[in-house]
Amino acid sequence: MRHPKAAGPTHETLPVEGGARRSPPSDFIRALIAEDNATGKHGGRVATRFPPEPNGYLHIGHAKAICLNFGIAREHDGGTCNLRFDDTNPSSEDIKYAEAIQQDVRWLGFDWEDRLYFASDYFERLYEYAEQLIREGKAYVDSLSETEIREYRGTVTEPGKASPYRSRTVEENLDLFRRMRAGEFEDGAHVLRAKIDMSAANMLMRDPLLYRIRHAHHYRTGDHWCIYPMYDFAHCLSDAIEGITHSLCSLEFKDNRDLYDWVLEALHVDPRPEQTEFARLNLEYTVLSKRHLRKLVDEGLVEGWDDPRMPTIAGLRRRGVTPSAIRRFCDLIGVARVDSRVDIEKLEYCIRDDLNQQAPRVMCVLRPLRLVIVNYPEGQTEMLDAPYYPHDVPKEGSRQVPFSRELYIERDDFREDPPRKFFRLSPGREVRLRYAYYVTCVDVVKDPATGEVTEVHCTYDPATKGGDSPDGRKVKGTLHWVSRNAALPATVRLYDRLFGVANPDELVQAGELAKALNPQSLVTLTDSMIEPSVAADPPGTQYQFERQGYFVSDATESSPSAVVFNRTVELRDTWSKQQTDDRQPKVRRPQRAEQGAKSANLGDRTAEGSSGVSSKTSDPAAAGRAQRYVAELGLPEADAAVVAREEAVASLFEAAVSVSGNPRHVANWVVNDVLRETKGRPIGEAPFTGAELGALVKLVDQGSVSRNGAKLVFAEMARMGGDPASIAERLGLDTPTDTGSLEPIIDKLLAENQDKVAAFREGRTGLLGFFVGQVMKASEGKADPKVVKERVGAKLADTR
Ligand code: ATP
Ligand code: MG
Repeated sequence: MRHPKAAGPTHETLPVEGGARRSPPSDFIRALIAEDNATGKHGGRVATRFPPEPNGYLHIGHAKAICLNFGIAREHDGGTCNLRFDDTNPSSEDIKYAEAIQQDVRWLGFDWEDRLYFASDYFERLYEYAEQLIREGKAYVDSLSETEIREYRGTVTEPGKASPYRSRTVEENLDLFRRMRAGEFEDGAHVLRAKIDMSAANMLMRDPLLYRIRHAHHYRTGDHWCIYPMYDFAHCLSDAIEGITHSLCSLEFKDNRDLYDWVLEALHVDPRPEQTEFARLNLEYTVLSKRHLRKLVDEGLVEGWDDPRMPTIAGLRRRGVTPSAIRRFCDLIGVARVDSRVDIEKLEYCIRDDLNQQAPRVMCVLRPLRLVIVNYPEGQTEMLDAPYYPHDVPKEGSRQVPFSRELYIERDDFREDPPRKFFRLSPGREVRLRYAYYVTCVDVVKDPATGEVTEVHCTYDPATKGGDSPDGRKVKGTLHWVSRNAALPATVRLYDRLFGVANPDELVQAGELAKALNPQSLVTLTDSMIEPSVAADPPGTQYQFERQGYFVSDATESSPSAVVFNRTVELRDTWSKQQTDDRQPKVRRPQRAEQGAKSANLGDRTAEGSSGVSSKTSDPAAAGRAQRYVAELGLPEADAAVVAREEAVASLFEAAVSVSGNPRHVANWVVNDVLRETKGRPIGEAPFTGAELGALVKLVDQGSVSRNGAKLVFAEMARMGGDPASIAERLGLDTPTDTGSLEPIIDKLLAENQDKVAAFREGRTGLLGFFVGQVMKASEGKADPKVVKERVGAKLADTR
């Protein structure tokens, strides 16, 4: 849930399709539909459906199918997407799943309007179609056993052989089929089969089953039926009944397409829907199969379908992931024809990037250590103003944070014997307390038994109120803190990846599900302390805990006194750092964009990462290159060493510089993005060239693409290659920085908010933030806030 103070578009509202911005088609399915529309194939209609089976909860793989089907419908005038429950199998389906699925699709931001359908509603019609097949001699009742049917089917190398019942007459078949329906036979006594070709190369075409007997209770039709249609019979006909034009499904149904077409042809269906397959989403460090997810739930390996570690939509929601982050992720990974496993960092990137825009910053001390300010008056509490969005121009809002003599700081933020480059608190060291004062450690109190530090004593400098020293004295570390007497005790659940291996499928298929799990996927801290401002927020509110990550208050916690937070994602990717530390040079990474510009003064966690390990090299050629990059291109030494270390990386770098003209920025990209993305693989195998990287850097430097947008463009380049400008355009990430497109938005806004314009002129200059925020919103967040601010400022001055 969004914080009440959060600005910007809500994620329940989807951006309005620009239409004009949507060309050319961004994937092969959209290209195919564009072609169909051009040739008038389906009369120019676009009708899709999302057909879940209500036998489990939706997961992020389904989200891909949802975004694709509903997304395509939205992109076309008059396009529709139905939600259809594919509920033809009575044994595993349940109304509770059907309800949860509807909730999830809606939460993702999609709407089926009045088109909610159930395949079970078509049972009567499907039955009639089956009789029609029998009457036309295209289906027969077979009385072989299940095992015999399998044996008769043959193998990939050998043709099958005909069942002795294949030659039953139409009358015989009709009679038997009607008696099957009437409940005269036991389960398995007979089946209805299509009469196609027992030697077809496609095994699915060797007289596939159409109906089977199941004396089972169906969650919607009750005991009305005891025969149920098979997927291959029901699905194509349900599509036809609903007038679907494009039936999109994942690749495992490729072979079923022949049968899909056969059934429709055999029944003379016109017009006919058409099936197209796309790659299933597979995601690193997780499994995306309802069967395996159910196993996790049933075996108690997770706490339920909505456990925040689950890749289910319900789990992601409870973890604090926003629908817009999921949609963005689906957009980013695109739609391909070939299966692949998607890097989980892409998902985490989309989550961070989205929350960065909307989550207010608050302070929470996860593992508290008591800090006493010995020269601060006892019993005094002062309220300090702290902005919710310290780094972000368009967003405003702040809260009062109580400050007093006794505080808590993070246990990790104090070291009695600090290692080199530890810039946080230690004896004799001065640091900044965020939004408060400079404090200097003067003493520590220890537990006599264990020697553990239990209290840190400091003095504070009253002249540094607000966090700056009037004499220009600098400190290297800034710590978050809470006031001991006002902070709220909190339970914090630190979630991590559910599986410990990137590709758990093999272990899982081998029945070793538990072995594949990450034993650290949940660490619960029960004595965290959080600032009191959060008490007023409803459950499900999202925050950035300064320096810690993004968190959400748990919406399922009912007790009013329980303050429970779930970690959505860390601020940066410490996981890949752990994994690649041995392979990758450790250098000081500039802070990631999502931490905001100010975070540079928020301590030294990244700096510490570089301690001890030299990025120098013993290779003389590399050393020579590094020297040249420092001397001639002005690179910082650490960057130069990394970029120069391998010849292939160096030549990519040089090619990029020759296009972008900005060596420092290119080096930055190489160090932070390129090497991360290629993760120790030969850089020559990357699908992008140095020139393309240079072109991307140039786009950012020109302001044509925001830095965050560029990250997504880069992710795409690293995935598929391609020209950054076209990718940016395709993903809609190119910023409308030209005043031409901003001007009308600004004019309209000022005209609609004359009262605020007047107030601004009367001196309420803080309203600038409101105007900038509104323009950002109108541009769907694509405009460059700096340019917007400048243009809005000029306009407001203009009309003065
Ligand atoms: P699972 O294999 O997890 O049990 P399913 O395919 O049986 O999934 P359905 O409810 O039948 O689940 O799926 C509904 C739709 O979602 C289908 O059209 C299917 O192609 C699509 N879908 C399911 N999983 C994925 C995935 N991982 N990536 C993309 N689409 C998917
Ligand atoms: Mg299925």
